Amino acid sequence: MTGKIIKGIGGFYYVVCENGITYECKAKGVFRNRKIKPLVGDNVEIEILDEEKNLGNVEDILPRFNWLNRPAVANVDQTVIIFAVSAPAPNFNLLDRFLINMEQHEVPTVICFNKVDLEGFRQSEDICRSYTKSGYEVLFISAESGYGIDVLEAVIKGKTTVFAGPSGVGKSSTLNSLFPDANVQTGGLSEKIQRGKHTTRHSELMFVDDDTYIMDTPGFSSLYTEGIEAEDLKLYFPEIAAYTGTCKFNMCNHISEPGCLVKKAVSDGRISKMRYDDYVMIYNELKEKRKW
Ligand code: GDP
Ligand code: ZN
Repeated sequence: MTGKIIKGIGGFYYVVCENGITYECKAKGVFRNRKIKPLVGDNVEIEILDEEKNLGNVEDILPRFNWLNRPAVANVDQTVIIFAVSAPAPNFNLLDRFLINMEQHEVPTVICFNKVDLEGFRQSEDICRSYTKSGYEVLFISAESGYGIDVLEAVIKGKTTVFAGPSGVGKSSTLNSLFPDANVQTGGLSEKIQRGKHTTRHSELMFVDDDTYIMDTPGFSSLYTEGIEAEDLKLYFPEIAAYTGTCKFNMCNHISEPGCLVKKAVSDGRISKMRYDDYVMIYNELKEKRKW
């Protein structure tokens, strides 16, 4: 029978199968000699060992279309990254680093700006909206008033979605408006998890309904630009990647080369200056890192 791993703890994998039953499985034999280890999110083939106690054995992992390290999860259809438009003011540099990470892992990202009910929205609105120019779907919501929650609900339907965001932006409140029955604790839930005695560092998919799964990631850890060469960074900014091979120099890094069409697009306002500045900053960081 095929199913999806929704949780893995202490050598056990919990697999939801087509029949709606969750089987507690071990992964015996087959994986010992292979480098691959089952991940939450993996679609797997299981052998049922005990129909009554819902026990099984993972026999095979079906091909993954992508996977993330932090949180460890496979086959992610999308991430929804939540920032607040105000209180706390959005840290766009952090957002850009997060987006690079998702581009690197080929995970589509929807940017969700919460707290649009706040007056401070006016100050950040233009920059928030400019992410559509970068090729991202941008949603504006208010977990408090319920504005836009229906749109977000439609976005996650039928998909496996990882929810991420720095603390205080209203991620728990948003999840609570989406799933009133789930009762996610608000007010720094992620910190509680991190500091709690019974620290559970496993990632877990929550089954919402047919083909809809979500994963809440405590904290905000996917910000490592590890494994990226400075010269590849341009591929992870969609609006810059669109200019691949069009500049005067075929291998243009769009930094200070003559005849650079990206720099022209920035001065024409077709590419966001802020995004470009972050690109240059991170490019230089990656170059520096390599020297060491
Ligand atoms: P988390 O750390 O991202 O999970 O954030 P929480 O959901 O715990 O919310 C942090 C704070 O922001 C709480 O005081 C919430 O009441 C508040 N908050 C969450 N969503 C909204 C919103 O849409 N508008 C306003 N004004 N405040 C919000
Ligand atoms: Zn260029």
